[in-house]
Amino acid sequence: MKITGEQLKQSMIDNNLTRVNIRACSLCNAPIGYIRNGEQLFFDSNCDCTSHTSDLKPRDWNEVAASLNAIMLQSLRIKTLANFGIKE
Ligand SMILES: [Zn+2]
Repeated sequence: MKITGEQLKQSMIDNNLTRVNIRACSLCNAPIGYIRNGEQLFFDSNCDCTSHTSDLKPRDWNEVAASLNAIMLQSLRIKTLANFGIKE
């Protein structure tokens, strides 16, 4: 099943998700992931490795959906989509 950007957005809204962590920093283990603000999606790459805080980066829903669709390892794909509230 391929998910669309619209499905991704709707799932986060329906499940009242405002943050989905996708990985942890390999150095400090701080969570790195996406933040939803209303209908907008941002990537938060801040971790504890530096004191510098970078701005949240706007992300296109369709591009994030495409990157999720590109996950080939089925177990990882199911787990990652579940974090966004999507069950397939
Ligand atoms: Zn770090």
